[in-house]
Amino acid sequence: MLEIEDLHVEVGGRKILKGVNLSVMAGYTNVLFGPNGSGKSTLLMSIMGFGGYKVTQGRILFNGEDITKLSVTERANRGIGIMMQRPPNLVGVNLRNMLQVTAKDRPAPAEGAKELDMERFLERDVNVGFSGGEIKRSELLQLEAQNPCLYLLDEPESGVDLVSIEKVGHKVNELLHGTSCAGRKGRAGKAALVITHTGQILDYIEADRGYVMCNGTVMCSGNPRELLQEISKMGYEECIKCKLRLTTVN
Ligand code: ADP
Ligand code: MG
Repeated sequence: MLEIEDLHVEVGGRKILKGVNLSVMAGYTNVLFGPNGSGKSTLLMSIMGFGGYKVTQGRILFNGEDITKLSVTERANRGIGIMMQRPPNLVGVNLRNMLQVTAKDRPAPAEGAKELDMERFLERDVNVGFSGGEIKRSELLQLEAQNPCLYLLDEPESGVDLVSIEKVGHKVNELLHGTSCAGRKGRAGKAALVITHTGQILDYIEADRGYVMCNGTVMCSGNPRELLQEISKMGYEECIKCKLRLTTVN
């Protein structure tokens, strides 16, 4: 579903991504690890097509189509959705309206608001004064309203308290399995690229493949749980050695 080929991206005149190769097949959930500042969020923002992320080389394919030059709206309409690490405050747009606009002609996810304990936020402006965990839950609700095929999740568990993490984890899992997408039912029609620091989200989702990003490139890939164990044991300094040790290398 998603193929990233030799992607180079500049932000504010600085080279951040330096030749990223990565892919996510339909039906798969892939996980992206990496230290702070390695370019993980930049990669997701570039896949979604936000302004300020200048692709200087390489391309992004979605279902075989080159989307590198498409606008955010065109990418969203093709079925790409994102949970941002730090989404902006939308002053004057309440969450209820946002969900209705995002759902277009389908009903907004009323059940989801209940499940995520977000009903009392529906009349509030999106993200204004929300805590870290409330922002994540609001982003998830918006994704449920959009029902994309490809989910780009930037640290879905960060800032979420221990009680809510279960709700968030179950919701992510439900979104990745439920409701048909692109005419295919359940997981088969969906895919996800999930950034995680702690790996907590792995307790709730079936992750297929893990990638480790360091200094703007993907250093290695493999079984996500094994990668997480290696990282917790040895840290990210071992990133380059890991490139030599692990099997598949981009
Ligand atoms: P990660 O998500 O892996 O922690 P980011 O993709 O957020 O990393 O950031 C990668 C690097 O890009 C960081 O060094 C960050 O400071 C830099 N960066 C991000 N946005 C900008 C910007 N607007 N201008 C300049 N540098 C930026
Ligand atoms: Mg980030």
